[in-house]
Amino acid sequence: MFAMFCFSSRDEPDTALPPPVYRALIESLFKGAAANSANVLAYILLAVYQCRRAADQHVVAASILIVVAGFVRIFVERGQHRLFLEHDGRGLATVASIRRSELRYLAVMAAFALALGSLQFFVLMDDDIGADRLMTLSACVAFLVSSPARCSGSPRIVAVQAWLIVLPFAAAMIVTGGAGSYLGLALAALILRHMRAMTKTLHGTQVSMLLARRGAEDVADKFDTALNNMTSGLVMIDRQSRIQVANWQFADIFGLAAPPVDLHVWRLIDRFIAPLIEQDEAAAMVRGFFDGDGDDNCEWRLADGRILALSRQPMPQGAVVTVADVTAEHAAEEYVRRMARYDPVCGLPNRANFAEKLATALASDRENAHFCLLSIDLDRFKEVNDSHGHQVGDQLLAMAGERLRAAAEPGFVARFGGDEFSVLLPTANLKRNEEIGAAIIRALSQPFEIDARIVRIGASVGAAIYPDDAADDAPESLIKAADMALYGAKAAGRGAMKFFAEEMAHAVRRRRQLGEELRKAVARGEMSLVYQPIVDIADESVTAVEALLRWTHPEFGAVGPGEFVPVAEENATIVEIGDFVLRQACRDALSWPDSVRVAVNLSALQFERGDLVATVTAALAESGLPAYRLELEITETILICNHETVLTTLNRLHGLGVHVALDDFGTGYSSLSYLNDFAFDKVKVDQSFVRAIGAPDNAKAASIIRAVNAIGRDLRMGVVVEGIETQDQLSAIQALGVRGAQGYFFSRPVPAADIGVYLLKRMAERARRAGAPRHRAEAG
Ligand code: C2E
Ligand code: MG
Ligand code: MG
Repeated sequence: MFAMFCFSSRDEPDTALPPPVYRALIESLFKGAAANSANVLAYILLAVYQCRRAADQHVVAASILIVVAGFVRIFVERGQHRLFLEHDGRGLATVASIRRSELRYLAVMAAFALALGSLQFFVLMDDDIGADRLMTLSACVAFLVSSPARCSGSPRIVAVQAWLIVLPFAAAMIVTGGAGSYLGLALAALILRHMRAMTKTLHGTQVSMLLARRGAEDVADKFDTALNNMTSGLVMIDRQSRIQVANWQFADIFGLAAPPVDLHVWRLIDRFIAPLIEQDEAAAMVRGFFDGDGDDNCEWRLADGRILALSRQPMPQGAVVTVADVTAEHAAEEYVRRMARYDPVCGLPNRANFAEKLATALASDRENAHFCLLSIDLDRFKEVNDSHGHQVGDQLLAMAGERLRAAAEPGFVARFGGDEFSVLLPTANLKRNEEIGAAIIRALSQPFEIDARIVRIGASVGAAIYPDDAADDAPESLIKAADMALYGAKAAGRGAMKFFAEEMAHAVRRRRQLGEELRKAVARGEMSLVYQPIVDIADESVTAVEALLRWTHPEFGAVGPGEFVPVAEENATIVEIGDFVLRQACRDALSWPDSVRVAVNLSALQFERGDLVATVTAALAESGLPAYRLELEITETILICNHETVLTTLNRLHGLGVHVALDDFGTGYSSLSYLNDFAFDKVKVDQSFVRAIGAPDNAKAASIIRAVNAIGRDLRMGVVVEGIETQDQLSAIQALGVRGAQGYFFSRPVPAADIGVYLLKRMAERARRAGAPRHRAEAG
């Protein structure tokens, strides 16, 4: 039974369709709003005409209802038409709002159908009016028959209309009775069935059409989205070279206002593409590419600097051409290529680039090749870098590179990394190369101004000549030779230039051997300590004894710390050796008088690696030496590297009760600031100053010693002058007010057993001297 009410082609309600489809269905109800209005007016006229029979109140009431419902229907249809079509469906975005629209129309149409049905009923019930019957019936049939076509967008509206027209008709037929009436009833049932079938078909067709349209729109949308979200420009041309599709990227790349369509590609080329390319016959070249003559992949360089990569893909119906702006990729590749060959800080060629240049220089004419290779190292660069920061360091490197390039003209300058540079000079002429080396040193020794501060460095230069110094004719051995010469220059006191000499190779070999042997030295018991007293010249007492390391190798014999300590620092064996020194010195000091401290030298690496505080604590604990009797000597270079961490460690050591002395004062970089940063217990003035006092012009050295002594007094620091060898030197520093002294004049460094004897002797002498006046007095 219910099936009779269902005119829909679908099992589900239309509201379950995709909203745009449901919307289109309901929109179809109002599509012919204008034509409908004329239609409705005809029904209204019919109703007005029926009103003439004022005697039949029912007919009049139904007629009035038709007039009212008719006008409401016109009003609603037009309003909805506007809403759907003219306002582009704004306000009908949701299924609920569309459904409201459908229901509103359903109510109006139901009222209209009800009125028409009622009129029909009352007219049919009246026997008198044959012509009216015909008219009314015709109106109802017309209404019924047009309903499926008009309202197939909403089958329920058709259903309601159909039933509201058919039911009154059926009622009239039943009431009037007779064979004709039963035939009428059967006819009505058939019409109803037919309407239902028709509505279902129309509705089904409409739904599937709308769904198909929607599918197509969806695909088109996706294609459009994909097309315009590509990174490349794309253009599709047909076999006649007419543009079918192009995306926005294509338009943007060639500066077009919009993607071109339905245009012959040659016109586009001539007007917009070819003028961008700075090349003879550009238009012919581009046309050729689009037409598929030649390579399907190519790159164009535009006059504005851009680089475009094009690819043409032939297709049965034409071709697809993609265009990508690869300017950035090219720049990045160029940058990477440059990075691989140039140093980013100085912009100078790097090691790989230099090696190539060297190889080329050799390969071109090995027989007649004569040139010079300079290895350059910036003196004190590390100190600048550590104390002023890497930014200043980088600026300094860039400026140094610039000066180097100017001074080394016509040489090929490269940065090898860190503060190392190399220069390839095109001549083996010794004098000329010497001049250039000197010019380089001069240029790099001039002060640099960076961020309003003056920075001073210097340079050491090692030189090797090809072919003389290239052992096996190999470029690497020439670089090695120059490096050895550089090492020699640095060892000679920096700021110097040295040419490679055979003995340098020996020195390097020996260093390497020493490095190897140092790894086993402590374990083999080859390391020992000697001790040198530090004296208070005011009362001639020994205040401390400095532990100095000695290495006796079974093959090399005695190796001095000046030679092996730098090697041990290089290969980090100094950490293990330093541990040994601390423990041994503390143990040895235990047998000395309580008033004598033991001074131990420390290396920077001991602060960086391992736990120095723990090592010191352990050495004190193992030996039983009180902390106040241990003095640690550090140099300024230790403070330069990792300034903050070193200060923290020093403060912790101070916390243990250990004394800290600043060794070799005056040889480093910016000494006074360090005195401010940490409360040293002692400052040891480097022996170079006391030696300078003996020189003819001694005023400067004396002044410096006097000044340091004054600072020491103010800061409550002991001051010791190192390297006192003669009575004159002693007298000189005594005259300057210095109390602490160390040097061969008092004692050379001696083994542990001897220092014990020395200390006892000194004490005995002091006691005797202290006693002597009394004896004399007693004698007197
Ligand atoms: P330093 O700490 O300044 O030690 C003083 C150096 O001057 C010692 O040289 C000493 O023998 C020498 N000296 C002392 N009085 C005189 C003098 O009157 N005239 C001359 N010409 N020299 C004198 P040494 O023992 O050769 O040590 C050299 C450097 O090796 C030391 O300088 C120190 O920096 C380092 N060193 C020595 N032992 C150790 C150690 O155990 N650990 C570390 N890290 N470095 C050490
Ligand atoms: Mg020392
Ligand atoms: Mg010293």
